[in-house]
Amino acid sequence: MNWFIMVILSLFQFENKNYMARSLTKGILLSLFASLALVGPLKAQEKAANVVMVLHGGAGTILPEYMDEEKSAEISGRLTAALSAGYALWEKGASSLDMVEAAIVVLENSPAFNAGRGAVFTYDGHNELDASIMYGASQDAGAVAGVTNIKNPIIAARAVMENSPHVLLSREGAEKFAESQDIERADSAYFYTRKAYEALQRVQAAEENGGSINPLPDDKMGTVGAVALDKDGHISAGTSTGGMTNKRWGRIGDSPLPGAGTYANDATLGVSCTGHGEYFIRQSVAYDMHALMAYKGLTVDEAANAIIQSKLKSINALGGLIALDKDGNAALSFNTVGMYRAYITKTGEITIRFFEEEVE
Ligand code: ASP
Repeated sequence: MNWFIMVILSLFQFENKNYMARSLTKGILLSLFASLALVGPLKAQEKAANVVMVLHGGAGTILPEYMDEEKSAEISGRLTAALSAGYALWEKGASSLDMVEAAIVVLENSPAFNAGRGAVFTYDGHNELDASIMYGASQDAGAVAGVTNIKNPIIAARAVMENSPHVLLSREGAEKFAESQDIERADSAYFYTRKAYEALQRVQAAEENGGSINPLPDDKMGTVGAVALDKDGHISAGTSTGGMTNKRWGRIGDSPLPGAGTYANDATLGVSCTGHGEYFIRQSVAYDMHALMAYKGLTVDEAANAIIQSKLKSINALGGLIALDKDGNAALSFNTVGMYRAYITKTGEITIRFFEEEVE
């Protein structure tokens, strides 16, 4: 109800200003009231119960006008297929690690997301992929960063966790390790998508014209993430990305960093983040979610709200997260125009949303 209080306060504030300004402001505010009464407040934060798996496909300025039917169908179709893959495993009593891996592989194989096949381009015109996975039962984690020829980085991340003594392997070393694990490779042509390449060209043209080296709003969507809770009560979380368009100097974001972009702990929650990675690293966002629940007793929804809608917003850090607690309560929160997101409940009911929408 913050907006309501602000509106009332502004009405009072203008009591002392001149009549014209007062009536104009009241007019605008009354129309605002009227439109809110008609459509209800839009929510960038939602929650759901009895969830077994929750996904995101990136947060950012996915303006509705850029969303043609074909793109929307591809994204919804892949999110549905990813949820179904995870759910089929859940029904069989498989581990949440298998669920997360299976769901992320489906999304990595789509050209529509900035992960695996559809990864964005670096400043030098390459694709450098990052991914991480974490298991809440043991808090083991595995990750790869800056890899260029691994078809499904999430599979490599899991192999690092299970078959190496390390947590995070990078670049050629990670690729050599993947080879030793017989993990499927792909050449650079596999990762070429016109959409991502044109985005690089737009960003570089803007940069030449004195713009920021950061991507234009619509050119950095599509990181993917999954969090699952299995029948044994174990939570896993994973994230996979191509990072940010035009990244250079071997830049690594939050996605392959346990505690920043991904975290899982059976005592509290699993979480996968998306957004401007530099902020998520500095704020240890994924671990902060756990800490707010473990030390302060917040619910998963309260923790997501505190971090995404308050803390990050206050420092102009754009992004969102999906989280699932040990009891199957999901929180989906973003402070951008949209976040591709989806979840499936124990009864197999699927919800998919892209933008801010009225949620119960
Ligand atoms: N967090 C990712 C990164 O900074 C990008 C994203 O989620 O869109 O690499």
